Amino acid sequence: MGYTYLSSMDKSDIITLPHKALHKVSRRVVVFNDDTSKIIENMKSATLNWETSRDHEVGVALAAVQINELHRIVIIREDSNDKNNKNFNVYINPEIVKYEGEIEEDFEGCLSIKDVYGKVPRYTKVRVKALNEHGQKIRLKAEGFLARVFQHEIDHTKGKVFVDHIEDKPEAFYKLSKAGNIEEMNDAEKKQIFSILW
Ligand SMILES: [Zn+2]
Repeated sequence: MGYTYLSSMDKSDIITLPHKALHKVSRRVVVFNDDTSKIIENMKSATLNWETSRDHEVGVALAAVQINELHRIVIIREDSNDKNNKNFNVYINPEIVKYEGEIEEDFEGCLSIKDVYGKVPRYTKVRVKALNEHGQKIRLKAEGFLARVFQHEIDHTKGKVFVDHIEDKPEAFYKLSKAGNIEEMNDAEKKQIFSILW
């Protein structure tokens, strides 16, 4: 017999722009207690529930600010290529200690900005330090898509969203079509989106 996690969160708990919290800086986690575990569980359940409502997207990662909890906690899917793998790695107080490789532009989306994609410049390699959910220090190197995910999520802990990187580049904005393709936006669509974002 299972049990129900009474107050577990769903996709409606994920805040979206122009919610002001998305531009606030999150606090460092200094004590690990039941509240910390609860936030992590809520982040996982909200991300997985969001994914069930999105035919063409994977819930790759989430920062705590996206459920309106201003703590520096990030979860990243263990294998973002496999929707059946529902496990996440947890990073607490994550920081990029070194940027390496080159700067590359590629598409990025965000659970807090519905149907909008952007071509965002990011480093191809980063070194990250953080604590895991047991409070142990971890260091890792990430490259390619995972390096992009870390940069995107760590930005969230600093109150920055991917669209802030391309604020003055309307040509970098794209949309997700109903069929799941990333397509160009027309001027009217861009105008409407910009009025929502800032
Ligand atoms: Zn995001």
